[in-house]
Amino acid sequence: MKHEQVDVLVIGAGPSGTVAAAAVQQRGLNVKIVEKQRFPRFVIGESLLPKCMEHFEEVGLLDVLKTQGYQVKRGARFIRDDKVCWFDFSEQYTNGWTWTWQVPRAHFDKVLADAVAERGVEIDYQTAVTDIQMAGSNSLTTVEAANGEKKQIAAKFIIDASGYGRVVPRLFGLEKPSGMPPRRAVFAHFEDKKRPGGADGEKITFVIQRQDIWVWIIPFSNGISSVGVVGNPDFFEEHPQDSYEQLLRSIISDVTQIQDRFEGAQMVVDAKSMKAYAVSARQLYGPGYVITGNSSEFIDPVFSSGVTFATESGLLAAKLVCRALQGENVDWEKDYVQYMTQGVETFRTYVNHWYTGLLQDIFFFSHQDHNMEIKRRICSVLAGYVWDETNSFVSDKRERALQSISHLIKA
Ligand code: FAD
Repeated sequence: MKHEQVDVLVIGAGPSGTVAAAAVQQRGLNVKIVEKQRFPRFVIGESLLPKCMEHFEEVGLLDVLKTQGYQVKRGARFIRDDKVCWFDFSEQYTNGWTWTWQVPRAHFDKVLADAVAERGVEIDYQTAVTDIQMAGSNSLTTVEAANGEKKQIAAKFIIDASGYGRVVPRLFGLEKPSGMPPRRAVFAHFEDKKRPGGADGEKITFVIQRQDIWVWIIPFSNGISSVGVVGNPDFFEEHPQDSYEQLLRSIISDVTQIQDRFEGAQMVVDAKSMKAYAVSARQLYGPGYVITGNSSEFIDPVFSSGVTFATESGLLAAKLVCRALQGENVDWEKDYVQYMTQGVETFRTYVNHWYTGLLQDIFFFSHQDHNMEIKRRICSVLAGYVWDETNSFVSDKRERALQSISHLIKA
């Protein structure tokens, strides 16, 4: 069997893996990515958060992304009945990025992967990790190419950025239920010829169909929009089930705010369904490995946090790996686990209250002019600034902050 040796092996060429690999390479270590699929490949997760712009900038990938003409995202729009609530990132409390993009991920992930490959990071596509043997902090990873050929890669450190593949949690028995109730999403890409003119037609929009059922519309700059429905699995059973396309079209036809826009619209990426996608891991690191991005944790799509967590964790993990390989003592528990947990738990609070309906009430309440300060602070969470402890809607006072507005609304 063929044998290779690298300093750092990254599993997966999604945003977590490419940002991690770029950061390792910046620090002069030898890094390689193995990727199971051929790119471009479809993956869901098309609405980014301003916070992730920092990550692309830091690893020098922002400039190439800026040349792609992606749809600029300046905020998030929520619609319930006939009420519209718009969070504008330029009004957020935290001093940070005020915009980001809405991206077809097949294209976006390939741009990132090609950019790191151009810098000299080797990427083996159609190459799946099938086994990892650890000897202390050294590892021997077996990979299998699409033609069945196997090889072994020795690495001083593994960054597992395998997303839904969850390679290390699966192989090392680290998978853990996320604690979130199982939900389902059905989604597709449509030609969006009846898109409203002006800024509204370009905005990501969340339509609240029922307290526990919501629809996303993510317009891309190429005239295509991603449309998806998320909610309790029982809800989907109320609609025709012959195909995912029929199911999605049937649900959309009941959503008054968008039914005309997508009636008869051509589907350009087949409808897909995902269930019980919330995942977690018992352990995020060990001798010679660290788990990042979706492989480590995914809560819910509602606040578009997945890619931002993927790049935040990929970048942080890469920096810590390099420090460890350069002989520094790294406190993984404090510098990685506690840090990432702070962000994840902040979003968990918001996701939970989204589905209880409290957050939806707060959004529309905060939209009234006199509640601007509340809105600014919540807007920072929606922009991904969930590590800004000066924001009472982020810190450990966040539950109290949300409950106090709830009392205000009821008063
Ligand atoms: P991925 O992008 O999944 O990349 C992992 C890569 O690893 C893949 O290319 C895969 O082929 C490769 N891989 C897997 N197994 C192996 C193996 N054995 N060997 C080698 N390679 C392997 N996030 C957002 O930010 N915005 C959104 O709007 C959003 N919407 C979502 C909607 C839904 C319904 C769901 C379920 C999720 C959504 N997400 C969203 C989350 C988003 O999909 C993920 O968080 C994001 O893609 C994670 O990036 P990643 O780099 O960790 O993993």
